[in-house]
Amino acid sequence: MHDLIIIGAGPAGITAAVYAARKNMNLLVISKDVGGQAAISGDVENYTGYQFITGPELALKFEEHMRGFDIALKENEEAVAVEKTGDKVTVKTNKAVYEAKSVIIASGKRSRELNVPGEKEFRNRGLTYCATCDAPLFKGKEVAVIGGGNSALDAGLQLIKIASRVYMINIGPDFTGDAVMRKKVGESGMVTVFSDSKITAILGDKMVTGIRINRQSKEQELAVQGVFVEIGLIPNSEFAEDIEKNRYKEIKINSSNETNIPGIFAAGDVTDIPEKQIIIAAGEGAKAALSAFGYMARTSWPAK
Ligand SMILES: Cc1cc2nc3c(=O)[nH]c(=O)nc-3n(C[C@H](O)[C@H](O)[C@H](O)COP(=O)(O)OP(=O)(O)OC[C@H]3O[C@@H](n4cnc5c(N)ncnc54)[C@H](O)[C@@H]3O)c2cc1C
Repeated sequence: MHDLIIIGAGPAGITAAVYAARKNMNLLVISKDVGGQAAISGDVENYTGYQFITGPELALKFEEHMRGFDIALKENEEAVAVEKTGDKVTVKTNKAVYEAKSVIIASGKRSRELNVPGEKEFRNRGLTYCATCDAPLFKGKEVAVIGGGNSALDAGLQLIKIASRVYMINIGPDFTGDAVMRKKVGESGMVTVFSDSKITAILGDKMVTGIRINRQSKEQELAVQGVFVEIGLIPNSEFAEDIEKNRYKEIKINSSNETNIPGIFAAGDVTDIPEKQIIIAAGEGAKAALSAFGYMARTSWPAK
């Protein structure tokens, strides 16, 4: 029986682990990967203390910090159910079943899919959801970025340094991302923007050869060798069946990171906090660990 199980090792989960370790909690971290979305973020210019650092570098620093403590970590493991019975919480994964007095869910978000013909067939055959991971594979090639928010702009900015031409396909009339990124994309001279345009198919034979878009009710095809899907994120909260969520499937928490179930806490992008950023997720992870520690102190330790 652990004191605390943390699900997820992105900025929220890692920071929670560091705080819990410093409180000497008997701790287990279960995660599909280490670093989370931070490890695939491009240039990070808003993490205090670093005027500039890349996402992968920052994620590595988080990981090194966590590994500096003697923390049990189950990597490449996925939580599939979390249940509270009596005083204990059971976490079922794709490999085993674990028990703890408390749990922090810090499972973040994942990329939303397009759901158009060709998407599944050409996934990893020219179609990708991660510019930071895959942009270098498209050196000198023509590529399309689908989306209009910060993730799409971030992908576009990475690709203008690598690809020969970048098309940005945006369903809305204007980009919705940060003004600084919008300006950089506009000034690059490398990006052709298709606004009010909906992607209707990914085309190809063995690999991607193009996309079909519907622009102002007219179908047209663009020849590209790469497609970067950047249309938003959905919370990894399906396994937390009994836990209350909002209409976006984000876990509802209070200011102490408590969910509707005592002993189960949540932190970071998977929750209904309004802003999704690395520094915020890290701070939320710290808060959640301190709340879990307080819960343990109240419920497990005899009063003196
Ligand atoms: C392209 C991109 C660029 C970004 N740029 C910036 C930026 O410049 N500045 C900034 O502040 N923020 C940026 N962000 C946002 C930032 O990365 C996130 O807000 C932050 O990583 C959220 O941290 P988190 O720990 O809550 O979740 P995540 O980082 O999503 O981590 C979740 C963790 O949970 C694991 N997990 C998921 N499901 C399960 C499961 N069922 N079982 C076990 N483990 C699971 C995942 O593998 C992962 O390790 C960017 C995001 C993206 C995608």
